[in-house]
Amino acid sequence: MGSAVDQQNLHGIGVSAGAAYGPAVIVAPAVRAPADEQPAADPDVALVEVKAAFEKVAVDLEQRAARADDTAQQILKATALIARDKGLHKATGKQLASGKGPATSVHLAVEEYAAQFEALGGYFAERVTDLRDVGSRTIAAVLGVPAPGVPNLAEPSIIVADDLAPAETATLDKALVAGIVTQEGGRTSHTAILAAQMGIPAVVHCEGALDIAAGTPVAIDGGTGEVLVSPSPENVATLRDRGARREAALAGSAGPGVTSDGHPVSLLANIGGVEDAVEAGAADCEGVGLFRTEFVFLSSSTAPTLEEQTQIYTKVFEPFGSDRRVIVRTLDAGADKPLAFADLGPEENPALGRRGLRLSQAREDLLDTQLEALAAAASATGADVRVMAPMVATADEADWFAQRVSAAGLAKSGVMIEVPAAALRARDVLANVDFGSLGTNDLAQYTMAADRMAGALSALLDPWQPAVLAVIDAACKGAAELGKPMGVCGESGGDALLALVLTGLGVHSLSMAPSKVPMVRYALSLHSLDDCRRLAQLALGARTAADALAAVREACNPDLAALV
Ligand code: PEP
Ligand code: MG
Repeated sequence: MGSAVDQQNLHGIGVSAGAAYGPAVIVAPAVRAPADEQPAADPDVALVEVKAAFEKVAVDLEQRAARADDTAQQILKATALIARDKGLHKATGKQLASGKGPATSVHLAVEEYAAQFEALGGYFAERVTDLRDVGSRTIAAVLGVPAPGVPNLAEPSIIVADDLAPAETATLDKALVAGIVTQEGGRTSHTAILAAQMGIPAVVHCEGALDIAAGTPVAIDGGTGEVLVSPSPENVATLRDRGARREAALAGSAGPGVTSDGHPVSLLANIGGVEDAVEAGAADCEGVGLFRTEFVFLSSSTAPTLEEQTQIYTKVFEPFGSDRRVIVRTLDAGADKPLAFADLGPEENPALGRRGLRLSQAREDLLDTQLEALAAAASATGADVRVMAPMVATADEADWFAQRVSAAGLAKSGVMIEVPAAALRARDVLANVDFGSLGTNDLAQYTMAADRMAGALSALLDPWQPAVLAVIDAACKGAAELGKPMGVCGESGGDALLALVLTGLGVHSLSMAPSKVPMVRYALSLHSLDDCRRLAQLALGARTAADALAAVREACNPDLAALV
């Protein structure tokens, strides 16, 4: 087994709760061009063949998209677009003409693009994983060898990878993937969000994961982040026992979110499209706290029409009837989620650039069409629709948005609080809207000045960072002064312990992947509002993120501490 990890406990960040046990299946690394590859005999003929390989990859990705759910579909289709990028084909042709072999030419063209993407930073840098994935698949097709990635699984297994491209995560077969462990990645990376959405236990940012040998039995706890390699039967039993106790505890958890003394905290779902809406509509949750509308259009090259949008939004609203709210976020385009039809040109630093509402202000036509479609779908279904803006920083921006929403005939407007400026001035920012919703993924990114896509910075991005909690506290106080409700729709809302802290800080609703709702509901049911306030003060008073978590874990109800 060489240097392989054997009988060892590893630790990462638990991003999707649940216990899982099975043999490790290592995701095949990227295929490389052979170092001694000969120049193409005829560069023109070779280019035709390479283009066919790119097309094969695009078609393969689209076929996988057809089998995937909404969110996954968009990601896969967007990746397929990379394989069809004419600039990439042209760059490959140049390499062929300069005397390189076909696989080498693909590799060099991809790396040329990757360097440009990395230099641009933000969204572009994040797409480098997808770009290299396309390159590696194309090289495999050129060489006639199996595509890299997750092999066919014969039994329920633990997938172990350096990192998983969103495209890979999205198409995993839930029946055969018992759990996921990645060496890289962070709490708010696409892989983490998708795994939770799919209900697959997952641990990310687990150092040493790649030293696990294929076939080694591995047990994971996607709640605590534990990864047990060749665990003893007792260890597996402990983990399974915890899993069983978790299931038993959650089996009795149903209905609206409420603390043990009757303080309501609405439990809502995060969704990315029609299929997610149907699934969340069937789940025991109180509605939708975040519909990421940009997810629906990630692969659209032209702006969706009023009719197309009305149709989609109608289908999204229907599962929630007229009594469960649906909070829709207007297009959060830009930075890590660019939309081809809403591109304002390259930016030095897209995460700090014209994204979210800033982009809507530059493209009022897009916002107004979307609001019109939302209003039409709301009136067609009688749904309780509330519309909020992403990336709001000032009171003026919030007022501008509220006016647009009301002009479109929509009843309620709100704003995401995900920029520290808006959190610190919540009293002014919320003055003319109906509610705020804390986007803790971006709020952590901007408070800690740490790119949320950078796995290496995950400690800084931890929402338990006392500075992030202090900013959330300020936002909740501002909302309370106005008597306006404040929700949370970032990933932290689905962390059962943090949910207690957020409730103690004054949050009224928590929105998350539906798979996380039962544990949060259970956590609330074990604590009174005063308990939550006490836990919030413990976390706020801690010096470090680790201290905050440890203090809350220590002080919360032991029945909960035993499960998370
Ligand atoms: C957030 O930033 O916390 C959020 C909910 O929005 P997104 O993750 O889509 O940026
Ligand atoms: Mg955000």
